[in-house]
Amino acid sequence: MEEVLLRLKELLFPSIADVAVLSGDVNIAIVRVDAQCTADGAVCPVCGTRSNRLHGSYLRFPADVPSGGRRVVLQLRVRRFTCGNQSCARRTFVEQIPGLTRRHSQRTERLRSALASVGLALAGRAGARIASVLGVSVSRSTVLRLVDALPEPEMVAPRVVGVDEYATRKGRHYGTVLIDIETRRPVDLLPDREASSLAAVARRTAGR
Ligand SMILES: [Zn+2]
Repeated sequence: MEEVLLRLKELLFPSIADVAVLSGDVNIAIVRVDAQCTADGAVCPVCGTRSNRLHGSYLRFPADVPSGGRRVVLQLRVRRFTCGNQSCARRTFVEQIPGLTRRHSQRTERLRSALASVGLALAGRAGARIASVLGVSVSRSTVLRLVDALPEPEMVAPRVVGVDEYATRKGRHYGTVLIDIETRRPVDLLPDREASSLAAVARRTAGR
């Protein structure tokens, strides 16, 4: 049995250290994977002090990437530790498994990044639809929120810029939107349609 669980761990979490699979359960719609962190203690997210003073534990159920068309839900037993640093503002904290969980998230890191990639390519509504085809139930606003939470891409000065207009909500006022032709991302919004604003941006961009 142990051998099977070890193999399951390799299969499910190949790049994640300090996690052990305790059991797995497959039914018609859902795969449930019972897992826990095996690290000796955790680092306080506020002060960075390592602690292994156990305060308690509870279950979390983050959704993971689907497998074989089924939803995958982890059943993670997470531990709460007491921070040993007397001057730290945080008395206790909950462990996170690097590369797998983050605070308050109901999804694993890889599911978050998969949905964010879908959202980047397709935006909210179509993103949510494609996710459901892949076996992930998610709302379009969540898809957009995950895109929004992505780290800012490194700013590379665009090589080719296109110009378009945008209207303010009431349509009474027009501004100019600059688009990086290669990445198709907006680069800048100008409040008006004056050539002088455009020239100012061109100077700024050239100086990057
Ligand atoms: Zn602390």
